[in-house]
Amino acid sequence: MRESERSTLGGGSTGDGVGAGRYAPSPSGDLHLGNLRTALVAWLFARSSGRRFLMRIEDLDRARDAGAAASQLRDLAAIGIDWDGDPVIQTDRAVDHEAAIASLDARGLVYECTCTRRDILAAPTAPHAPPGAYPGTCRNRGDAERAAAREAIAPRRPALRLRAPEGLSELGFDDALLGPMSGAVDDLVLRRGDGTVAYNLAVVVDDAAMGVDQVVRGDDLAPSTPRQILLQRLLGLDTPEYAHVPLVLGPNGARLAKRDGAVTLAELRECGTDAGAARGMLAESLGLASRGERPSARLLIDRFDPELLPRRPWVWTPGSDGVG
Ligand code: GLU
Repeated sequence: MRESERSTLGGGSTGDGVGAGRYAPSPSGDLHLGNLRTALVAWLFARSSGRRFLMRIEDLDRARDAGAAASQLRDLAAIGIDWDGDPVIQTDRAVDHEAAIASLDARGLVYECTCTRRDILAAPTAPHAPPGAYPGTCRNRGDAERAAAREAIAPRRPALRLRAPEGLSELGFDDALLGPMSGAVDDLVLRRGDGTVAYNLAVVVDDAAMGVDQVVRGDDLAPSTPRQILLQRLLGLDTPEYAHVPLVLGPNGARLAKRDGAVTLAELRECGTDAGAARGMLAESLGLASRGERPSARLLIDRFDPELLPRRPWVWTPGSDGVG
């Protein structure tokens, strides 16, 4: 994004060509082993390639919970992850989010949408439209029709959607871990009816402003990436390199969750597993340490090779580490 903006974020200059990776947790509670593992991989990708590593608290969706964010940062530091500068708080970035929407709007790329989720599900979909794609109900309204639609839903307010380029329904990218990927793009939401800026818009604007050129995150977010790349192109921003990390699964084969036992650092500590041992477990799951080893974070950077990372989910079972 604009150079003047870049230099104010992320705690350092970004004009030096060094680049940056980042971790961007939502402050919704304590991080579990799956989150910590993804953060560790993101940190290893950045540090082993000489990049800066930045932190961003993605608090758009919930009332600011400074307690949850602080506890997440403490846990990240406890397993040896460090970051440059102060964490960026996403809700502090509203001016830039709105500026990006305004710049799209100025080019006729934004329209109001009054559809509810139910309207979208009930609407007939265009032939060949990807499943779940917005059917375009509100896309081509004239002024009078738009005003009437607005009135009809008051006091609810319309959402804002991107007018995606005609005929573009898929976009591909190369993922450092998953290989060639492709996914749907459509008229994605930019700002919700309740005024909250959409995740896809915020993440693209913030990553660019922070000088992030390497995005490493859980593979549950891989389907959002084509939409984010489309936004980058329309906003004239560079596309970072992507690596989506296979998630950690619990013993039942579903995504690891709190019900799976001692999965946060605080819970593991109660069972006698300290942060160093937890880092060792995560490192073992990444093929970077042998069982029971307590490697330093620094040693993990030396051992890290993205080519050798496991490409399959790590199935975590309580007791597999001797606790639980
Ligand atoms: N805040 C998102 C999450 O916690 C991550 C966003 C991203 O890494 O792009 O799932």
